[in-house]
Amino acid sequence: MTKRPANLPERIQHYIDGQNVDSVSGETFDVIEPTTNEAYIKCASGDKADVDLAAAAARKAFDEGEWPRMLPRQRAQVLYRIADEVSKLNEELGAIESFDSGLPIRQAKGQANRAAENFRFFADLIVAQHDNAFKMPGRQINYVNRKPKGVAGLITPWNTPFMQESWKLAPALASGCTVILKPAEFTPTSASLWPGIFERAGLPKGVCNIVHGFGGTAGDSLVKHPDVNLISFTGEVGTGKIIYGNCAPNMKSMSMELGGKSPAVIFADADFEAALDSTLFGVYSLNGERCTASSRILVERPIYDKFVEAYAQRAKKVVVGDPADPTTEIGALVHPEHYDKVMSYIEIGKSEARLIAGGKRPEGLDKGNYVEATAFADVPRDARIFQEEIFGPVVAITPFDTEEEALELANGVEYGLAAYVWTKDVTRAHNFAHGIESGMVWINSHNVRDLRTPFGGVKSSGLGQEGGYRSLDFYSDQQAIHLTLGDVHTTRFGATGYADNDLGLGGPSA
Ligand code: NAD
Repeated sequence: MTKRPANLPERIQHYIDGQNVDSVSGETFDVIEPTTNEAYIKCASGDKADVDLAAAAARKAFDEGEWPRMLPRQRAQVLYRIADEVSKLNEELGAIESFDSGLPIRQAKGQANRAAENFRFFADLIVAQHDNAFKMPGRQINYVNRKPKGVAGLITPWNTPFMQESWKLAPALASGCTVILKPAEFTPTSASLWPGIFERAGLPKGVCNIVHGFGGTAGDSLVKHPDVNLISFTGEVGTGKIIYGNCAPNMKSMSMELGGKSPAVIFADADFEAALDSTLFGVYSLNGERCTASSRILVERPIYDKFVEAYAQRAKKVVVGDPADPTTEIGALVHPEHYDKVMSYIEIGKSEARLIAGGKRPEGLDKGNYVEATAFADVPRDARIFQEEIFGPVVAITPFDTEEEALELANGVEYGLAAYVWTKDVTRAHNFAHGIESGMVWINSHNVRDLRTPFGGVKSSGLGQEGGYRSLDFYSDQQAIHLTLGDVHTTRFGATGYADNDLGLGGPSA
């Protein structure tokens, strides 16, 4: 077993109405750590009864509590304090995240600061926020009355779990919603830090509730609960489709951040070394368990052989090992089920393309979910390893001859989350980026995000865009208020002799 972090809780409980509680049923499940797959902690396993309690607490806090009614500045003060508390836990969170999910400690360490930044960012936004007001001189004034939408159900995945949770909690709370968070069952441990953070920051009881458990029970009950007004979900496309259907009967608002199979397109004129570094980092960082991973690399023919060779050389030297070791570049995959999935794709890849690096469990690491940094070249466009999300340290490299072919390859999958373009030709970079069917494109860059920009996918990669004000829009209703100034002009039904020009149906702005 890798190094056990200090300060692990004795067990993981739900957090409902300001109390840490066990499941109503008393049920728990074992959480395992991925370097041995041994159980190390028990987590409360929630079902409908626990979601009912959490929904009642969140509903009461929304309908009767102070949180939705506070001035933005007051809410922002609490969010800043949450951010400060999160920042203080940087070391502790890094250690827990690395232990629980198998992320290399060097990569897990920045997670608290990223999470804290989400709270600071949305605190700043609500203080600076303004909404539209339109005047029709002498006739009408119209303005937007923004209101928090209600109780938000937040369902998160196991990759960088605490950071993903903060990415939903911060805008939901900033908007004045009350929330129920359902963390991923593979990695629930870091979520047990939230209750202490909220209490020290002064978040009122019942505003944020956490129910642990499996997707088919706790998650399903949350999605179907009539008192939960909206669902923000991050996870797999298949799960997203089920949740989409389950939101329909109650007409819930939904935001979905789903999977990806993002292309990195490297033209022959690109900065070769920069593209090489970026594409290695893009698929092997975070163990390759990253929605925006550049898991397909499309390379222009004149530099293809050189690129494949250089990529293979570097991939073979990527250090796979104990997540707690600061020299480790790829740790252990999160769970044996996920490990089996990744390994089965590697076997499929061996029959579809040319293996140039990795492809097996590393020597000397006989247990735990370790896999070598793996790369395939000459991958055809209909190969499963080209089309399907593997979500591990596995990359598919494919050559192209023309810009048209590159675009066709880039767009030739069901996903459309991110894309990366490498070229020194500025005009081509922009035009090519505009043609890509993806929510986000990075040009001559790996994934560095300005929090003000939209985040989300197209096609099967998601529904709706979050990021910056768009996140606040998702968690708010924008009610249009129209007020007449001066005389009321109404077509006078039932009165005789009104003129045709009185037929201003809908008033001055219709
Ligand atoms: P998953 O879909 O298996 O689970 C995600 C969450 O949904 C978990 O909390 C799970 O318990 C819950 N869930 C499962 N079934 C449910 C149901 N029927 N009703 C309600 N909730 C249910 O996904 P995962 O394996 O945890 O995460 C990996 C996936 O997430 C990958 O596809 C990855 O690309 C995607 N992801 C996307 C983004 C993005 O921003 N686009 C970010 C991170 C991860």
